[in-house]
Order: sequence, then structure tokens, then C-alpha cells
Amino acid sequence: MDKLKQIVTGSILENEPMSKHTSYGIGGPAIAFITPQDRNDLKRILDFSNKNNIPVYFIGSGSNLLVSDDGIDGIVISPAKSLKKLEIKNNLINAESGVMLGKLVKESIKRNLSGLESLIGVPGTLGGALVMNAGAFGREISNYLKSVEIMTSKGKLKSYISNEIDFSYRHSSFRTDEFILLAKFELDYEKPDIIEKKKKIASKGRKTNQPLRFRSAGSVFKNPKNYAAGYLIDKAGLKGTRIGDAEISTHHANFFVNHGSATSSDITKLIRLARSNVLEQFDIELELEIRTLGIDKEQIEAYD
Ligand SMILES: Cc1cc2nc3c(=O)[nH]c(=O)nc-3n(C[C@H](O)[C@H](O)[C@H](O)COP(=O)(O)OP(=O)(O)OC[C@H]3O[C@@H](n4cnc5c(N)ncnc54)[C@H](O)[C@@H]3O)c2cc1C
Repeated sequence: MDKLKQIVTGSILENEPMSKHTSYGIGGPAIAFITPQDRNDLKRILDFSNKNNIPVYFIGSGSNLLVSDDGIDGIVISPAKSLKKLEIKNNLINAESGVMLGKLVKESIKRNLSGLESLIGVPGTLGGALVMNAGAFGREISNYLKSVEIMTSKGKLKSYISNEIDFSYRHSSFRTDEFILLAKFELDYEKPDIIEKKKKIASKGRKTNQPLRFRSAGSVFKNPKNYAAGYLIDKAGLKGTRIGDAEISTHHANFFVNHGSATSSDITKLIRLARSNVLEQFDIELELEIRTLGIDKEQIEAYD
């Protein structure tokens, strides 16, 4: 680790609790949590990890992430505190992956640029939004995307134009060994009052529908065809079910909230409970929307 510390020019935190880097406030320590200063720094870190066979994991600001209480046997890399360059020329945007989505939305609105305003209030970085194809109120981050630059975990730079990337509902074809560096967008000019109206609908809807007072990672499951996952969990009688400090929100049953000291194991148990009950009562298999780190897929998706 001392050697790694010598080569990193950004910030490196050793044995860093991931609970400090997730919106759930859950997660044990990673060997190191690194914010690379720039892409050269990232390349050096990746070369080091390859040479020394240390696994690396890429995250944004952890707002869609459940991390194991046992921590991560590897290095976690995030652009959230450093890769934050944002350039807007006319209706063209170049944004680094660590730019917060909220900032991107607000800066676009200020310039009468339309396309992203419905995403107001979606937490997280641009990188995370692209991987998740974040969306709200009928719009997705991929709608106005032109291209993306990535670095593979082997340290190779690559660019994709948007139609080379497969995007669908909360899905993108980025691989887990691809670190998003930068994205370009082309937005439409629009009258300010029209943009403002769409923004207000989104903000209001979010405040009414989501339990924003508590820590969560947003929707736990994707909505299956023809149904809202929250509706099914509610109809299965599970709203308000609590395990430890984790609760299926009484406000929105697809949000599982942390009342203070919930663990990944508590959330995992709620996930299994919800999946098992919805399958039994409606014959529908709920698919996870949140991403996990250090948690066995079979364990979290097992039916009780
Ligand atoms: C209160 C609340 C409300 C929410 N509402 C919505 C909503 O309305 N719509 C919606 O779509 N989502 C919503 N979410 C979920 C979340 O905000 C989004 O998924 C967001 O885009 C995640 O961004 P992030 O930077 O936090 O990514 P993370 O959670 O850190 O990561 C998400 C995934 O992206 C990968 N990743 C992140 N950054 C990079 C990178 N630079 N390179 C490579 N891989 C990367 C990670 O490995 C992980 O698989 C909500 C969450 C909360 C807490």
C-alpha cells in the first residue's frame, strides 16, 4: 500500500469505510478508496493494480449502491471529488464523470437548454447516471448523449458514440471494467417557461413520492412490465416491514430506508423477503435496480 500511496497524486484513503461513500450509509472498509487527480493518475493506479493483481471497482457517489458489511477486498475508485470539469459551448456540453448530475441539470437550465430538466433531484455523478441510464418523468440521461470516453481497467482509452452503447430502462452496456471519464451531450434550446414547468413537475413529484428524509439508494427494484415494483411490494403487505434499522418505506415500498444503523445484511434480508413474497403472490420476479459490491448475487437473489 505504501508503494501505491507514492504513485497516487489524487487522494487515497486506506482501509476506508464504504459507509462514508454510499447514500445508504452502509458498507465495510475497502483496502483503499481513491479519487484520481486526472486520467494519467488513473492510468498509473490501474497499472499498479494490474501488476499486483489487486481488484479494482469503479463507483460514483454511491447513491445506487449496497456495499457488504464485510467490506471490499480491493481498491475502489471514484471520480466524484476530482474529475469535475464542465464545459458548455452553445448547446454542446462536455462533462467529466465526477460532475454531479444536479449541477449538470442546473447549468443546462440556466442556459435555456432542454433535455435534462426532468432529472432534477436525481442524486449522483454523471458517470453513475450513464451506467444506470438514470431517468425520471419520461426522460433518461442517454436521450441527448453524443459520446462517451472511458478507460478500461487495463488502462486503455476508448470512445463510444452514443449509438454504440446499448441503453434501456436503468440499463447500459458499459462493462464493469470500464471507467467512465467524460461524456458529451447536445441539448435543445427551449423557452425558459417550458423548461421551468417540466423541472417543477419533476421536483414536486419527487418530493411527494419519495421518502427523502431517510437514507436510501432510491428504488431497490426495477419496475416489471405493466407494474410498479412498489405497488407489488405494498400489495404483498410488506410496507413498513422492518429488519434491524432497515425498513421497507411506509411512504414508497420500493425504497428501503436506513433508520440509522442498518446493515447490508438487514437490507439483503428485506430484498429476499420482497422478492419471495412478490413471486409467491403475483408470480413476478423482481429484478434489482440497485448495484451491489462485495455481496454474493446468489445470496441476495435467493428465495426464502
Ligand atoms: C433519494 C434517491 C432518489 C433517486 N431517484 C432516482 C431516479 O429518480 N431515477 C434514477 O434513475 N435513479 C434514482 N436514484 C438512484 C441513483 O441516484 C442513480 O442511479 C444515480 O445515477 C447513481 O449515480 P452514482 O454516481 O451515485 O452511482 P453509484 O451508485 O456510485 O454507481 C452506480 C453504478 O455505476 C457504476 N459507476 C458509477 N460511476 C462510474 C464511473 N465513473 N465509471 C464506471 N462505472 C461507474 C458503479 O459501478 C455502479 O454499478 C435515486 C437515489 C436516491 C438515493
